[in-house]
Amino acid sequence: MGRIIAIANQKGGVGKTTTASNLADGLVQKGKKVLKVDMDPQGNLTMSSGIETEINDRQDGLITLSEVMLEKMNNDRIPEKQEFIIKTGQADLIPADMSLSGVELALVNTMSREYVLKEILESIRNLYDYILVDCCPSLGMLTVNSLTAADSVIIPVQAEFLSLKGLELLVQTISRIKRQINKALEIEGILITMFNRQTILSRQIKEILENNYGCNIRIFQTLIPKSIKVAEAPIEGMSVLQYSPNNIVAHAYRGLTEEILNV
Ligand code: ATP
Ligand code: MG
Repeated sequence: MGRIIAIANQKGGVGKTTTASNLADGLVQKGKKVLKVDMDPQGNLTMSSGIETEINDRQDGLITLSEVMLEKMNNDRIPEKQEFIIKTGQADLIPADMSLSGVELALVNTMSREYVLKEILESIRNLYDYILVDCCPSLGMLTVNSLTAADSVIIPVQAEFLSLKGLELLVQTISRIKRQINKALEIEGILITMFNRQTILSRQIKEILENNYGCNIRIFQTLIPKSIKVAEAPIEGMSVLQYSPNNIVAHAYRGLTEEILNV
């Protein structure tokens, strides 16, 4: 049975999508079968995998996550997996686009609205070793669905800007979902991203996180440094691991992969 890991933080731009993309390829390089799930209407994970989801550009007849979720909600039916899972040389992908924001609204009036993604992923879980869910920057119903489906959560936190209040709210939300909906949910760890060894701020933020959360939550040993390659790789539709395997960020995400595998 595949392990479902959500990558979540309601703060935008902290490295969720970058982590999903690179950890996925890191796990693939270790021989694992991996599925990436784009749970963000921005569709960044989809675009960074080199997939176009604009209706006009699509000739493959594939549907996106919104259509799969709507079909489950409206007709209690899950489409055939080959209709919505894109196979690539690396990790497989369930793509998303802007229409996913409409699903968020539709969820409000749906029965068992927290469980829609879970039921979809349960039906394909046995095909993978890892399923990584890239969450959107909000704590709305899409993220609640991701946390309900997940076995664990990775929380990326940016070393340049720490919102302790935001982090507290996220940890509380995860605890509440664990208590009320998904007893098995665990926090896999806090991942410090965009870390710069040279700045005092980066080091301070690491210390604050260790002092505030170190006792209860694992803080990954691996620190993800900053590199311009991170911005370049998605434009080519690749992870940094593929685009620039010797880059410091690629090296760091291979380190994170080892930490995840050694749980
Ligand atoms: P959102 O909340 O909008 O979904 P996110 O949390 O998924 O954002 P990313 O899209 O992964 O964050 O990263 C945000 C921006 O920061 C991107 O422009 C990305 O290129 C850049 N970035 C992420 N990680 C790094 C890094 N290690 N070094 C340099 N730039 C980075
Ligand atoms: Mg993102």
